[in-house]
Amino acid sequence: MAKPVDTRTAGRKPVTKATRSAAETEKIRAALAARRDELNAEYDQTLSEITELQRDRLTDSAGDDQADTGTKTFEREQEISLANSIKERITQVERALERLDEGGYGWCERCGNPIPVERLAAFPSATLCVTCKQLEERR
Ligand SMILES: [Zn+2]
Repeated sequence: MAKPVDTRTAGRKPVTKATRSAAETEKIRAALAARRDELNAEYDQTLSEITELQRDRLTDSAGDDQADTGTKTFEREQEISLANSIKERITQVERALERLDEGGYGWCERCGNPIPVERLAAFPSATLCVTCKQLEERR
């Protein structure tokens, strides 16, 4: 007996999207990679600041009064939340690079137009073009 034809994949619609030139894709990739490097450097910097604050706290907390200790703890917490938000942005950029390879990155979710390279470099998580974004915000 013949196997039934798998209709699930047969009827799938092909993805019809405007195409971006290879040069443009490369430009976006370069912008994203530069952004990632920048963020990685920022992240390392923040981590070493945290380590320093931690060391300060351990070495000269003996003479500190309550207020000093509180300030240092606060500073450290600030640095840690900064580090976390940088890490998040790195992840966003990395995800963007993956989506770029798959061809699903950099298109406006509303109008389907390509999002300008400059905008993507500044906001790797952007899913709308500037025009649509402004329309969204006006609502
Ligand atoms: Zn749009």
